[in-house]
Amino acid sequence: MSILIVGSLALDSVKTPLGKRKEVLGGSATYAAVSASLYSPVNLVGVVGKDFPKKYIKMLEKKNIDLQGLEVQKGKTFRWKGEYTWNFNDAKTLSTELNVFAKFKPHIPESYRDSKYVFLANIDPALQEEVLEQVKKPKLVFCDTMNHWIASKRKQLLKTLKKVDILLLNDAEARQLTGEVNMIKVARAMRKLGPKTVVIKLGEHGALLFTGKHVFCLPGFLLESVVDPTGAGDTFAGGFIGYLAKTKKLNQKVLREAVVHGSIMATFTVEDFSLNKLYKARKNSVNKRLKEFKRLTVF
Ligand code: AMP
Repeated sequence: MSILIVGSLALDSVKTPLGKRKEVLGGSATYAAVSASLYSPVNLVGVVGKDFPKKYIKMLEKKNIDLQGLEVQKGKTFRWKGEYTWNFNDAKTLSTELNVFAKFKPHIPESYRDSKYVFLANIDPALQEEVLEQVKKPKLVFCDTMNHWIASKRKQLLKTLKKVDILLLNDAEARQLTGEVNMIKVARAMRKLGPKTVVIKLGEHGALLFTGKHVFCLPGFLLESVVDPTGAGDTFAGGFIGYLAKTKKLNQKVLREAVVHGSIMATFTVEDFSLNKLYKARKNSVNKRLKEFKRLTVF
């Protein structure tokens, strides 16, 4: 089943202790779409400027991603600059240039309006709500956000969250949103804001899933080489949602499996800068890591 993904497409400049890259392909929707496309067809909605390299458009087209909803506008593409220190889990934002996103009004093409799976990837929460107003009867609405919006658009974000079924945040964002520290309390507070299911991403330490009375705790997949964590959260979301859309089911077992798939997809992203490694991930490389993950966690 197709997934509608709305979020940022970006040119990222990233520095980590292991290297740096300038103005490479990034953006919340980009990572999520490429990740989800391994499982289900994706319809992408977003905006780029005239400076967005054509080779990146071609890359997205080559995946199972429909770009009818991608607008190319006069002006510059969204740019994000970030840095990681030896704590690879927290990015420090050095600058955010909204550029064409500043005046962007999402227009959902007619053929996308029946989408059953909708992912509001990290983007201004006002735009996230505008998307929901145009979608007819989604089965599941997923949402991600970040410290920038939690701090600057809190009221709007809380309004958007009332319409969300599954909220995915990293631990620091979840604490910032709820004002709680302990993860059980954080999850409880998140669920009171609207979403019935919450996923808290713990970076290299794994992920937590809270739904109803159930809690699932998955450790991080042990990787030998981590180069750049940018996009790991969005990639996780893409794999998680892609798996749910593929199975078309929603129960504890499938949700847990989706967390595992999200985690595995994120491992590809962190192994190289930008989408370099994620882009090359195939079903057999995912299945190989699934087996390794089972061996790693069984007791
Ligand atoms: P992640 O590492 O998964 O949290 O997401 C990293 C991606 O988020 C980068 O590729 C950025 O381009 C994008 N990003 C950073 N800041 C923002 C923002 N304020 N709004 C939308 N996307 C953003």
